[in-house]
Amino acid sequence: MRSEPDIRAQNNLSATERAASIARHDDAVARALRLHGVRPDNWVPSRSGIDHDVVVVGGGQSGAAIAFALRRAGIARGSVIDAAEEGQEGVWLTTARMNSLRSPKLLPGPELGIAELGFQAWYDARHGEAAFASLAFIPRLDWAAYLKWYRSATGVSIRFQTRLEGIDPVESGLRLRLSVGGHPVEETCRKLILATGFAGSGSANTPAFIRSALPAHLYAHAEEPIDFQPLRGRRVAIFGAASAAFDAAAVALESGAAGVHLFCRHDDIERYSLMRMLYYPGSVEHFRELPDRERWRIMSVLCRRAQGPVPDTVRRVRKFENFHLHLGARDPALSLDGDAIRLKLAGRDIGFRFAFVVAGTGYSVDLKARPELAGHVERIALWRDRYRPEPGEENAELARHPYLSPGFAFTEKEPGTAPFLRDIHFFSAGAMLSNGRNPGEVSGMRHGIPQLVSAIGRALFLEDADAHVARILAPPQPILDDAEYKDRIWQEHAQPEFAGADAVDG
Ligand SMILES: Cc1cc2nc3c(=O)[nH]c(=O)nc-3n(C[C@H](O)[C@H](O)[C@H](O)COP(=O)(O)OP(=O)(O)OC[C@H]3O[C@@H](n4cnc5c(N)ncnc54)[C@H](O)[C@@H]3O)c2cc1C
Repeated sequence: MRSEPDIRAQNNLSATERAASIARHDDAVARALRLHGVRPDNWVPSRSGIDHDVVVVGGGQSGAAIAFALRRAGIARGSVIDAAEEGQEGVWLTTARMNSLRSPKLLPGPELGIAELGFQAWYDARHGEAAFASLAFIPRLDWAAYLKWYRSATGVSIRFQTRLEGIDPVESGLRLRLSVGGHPVEETCRKLILATGFAGSGSANTPAFIRSALPAHLYAHAEEPIDFQPLRGRRVAIFGAASAAFDAAAVALESGAAGVHLFCRHDDIERYSLMRMLYYPGSVEHFRELPDRERWRIMSVLCRRAQGPVPDTVRRVRKFENFHLHLGARDPALSLDGDAIRLKLAGRDIGFRFAFVVAGTGYSVDLKARPELAGHVERIALWRDRYRPEPGEENAELARHPYLSPGFAFTEKEPGTAPFLRDIHFFSAGAMLSNGRNPGEVSGMRHGIPQLVSAIGRALFLEDADAHVARILAPPQPILDDAEYKDRIWQEHAQPEFAGADAVDG
């Protein structure tokens, strides 16, 4: 083990040390991938009329890690698409505004068991071990840079500006209606994975009291990119009191807003992160095995209220004297007063005006809101089709979650009416009730991705069972030439003297 001063000496690496350290890490990664046998031959028989065995929709951290896991499993004819332009995929450089990830820094993530591919090894190589040790949480921009590096280190490529717009079942699989750079294109695949993030389960949730009262240029959901510069010197109202709301408040204040008022409808900020109760490996891996009743019971407790803000984001806004927190802010009503926005709470005008409103009000799970699933939603089983909650445990939001197989596949509402649904796997926040945690979060990837890839491999194998039986039983090539041992084959009559010698030895 290194001594403490030794470790400290690695912090603040000089440019030369850093270059050497990165080169060493690159070598270690290449070696680790070699030793793990990262590129087994593709084993999935090709089918006529099928372009890809698997298409992954979404090139965020989930899509990249899934593509890597599929390749390691020998499922090589796949493709990853993302609607965004390169660099705009996922949330980290677009709508996430926090300084650091909320996940604990030591959680295993997209490295999928190969330590050299993990964030810690990447960060150590660039900044030194002491620098990693001193991090409380992973800086968001470093995480984004790491994910970009991860894709190149694992050889995962993403087709950007390629949006999935619709799905049609065809005889041998699924036909995907894509928009590639704005042009319609059709491609086919056998299995489809929707790794489309939080909003991919439904939509960002902007309450009607905002939507119906204000013109579109006067409000935004925290999910959208927001230019806070024009709000310099002006007053901003933020509704919602989870981390994303506080993050938006922080950026508005740091951009010079005259004042930011955050409205929380409850009498206090949620001070618990109940979802963390699910973090431990036993739960992340095996939650999906629990009976429906227990899965529902757990999630109805953990989702009773939105997760509270992480301490870092509260401390970030508290530094500003022009940040104001309103608790118990119920029955809001917005209206226009000239160019300004007026707010009444429970019928009482709060007395001052705003220039802009941000909805930090989370996301809804609602497959009907997903254009790519149009035409199929009515045939997908939701939890409300499969489970009737105990009195007192009803939850309309949970009831809209899709009822997924343990391998994240959709299931049919009416058996036999839409068998192709089993070929669509939903690796998005809405998978939480069926399979535990948001599988795309760092804490969910370690177990969720192997479970997903195993389920897909199993289906691909069993669907081609005859071909695999024939392949396994096909006359094999000999692995040994008889020339290797021919001259040592016992010839009793040709070598009688050895028979006698044996008898003496025995
Ligand atoms: C503000 C914020 C903070 C968060 N902080 C954390 C955190 O600290 N730790 C953590 O683990 N998680 C955090 N999360 C959750 C976070 O969303 C996920 O962990 C992570 O982004 C999930 O990665 P993903 O690849 O599954 O989805 P995303 O990163 O959301 O990527 C989905 C991709 O799908 C693409 N897409 C969607 N629909 C289509 C379509 N029809 N066709 C083609 N492409 C499509 C999108 O363009 C997008 O690039 C945070 C989320 C938010 C919003």
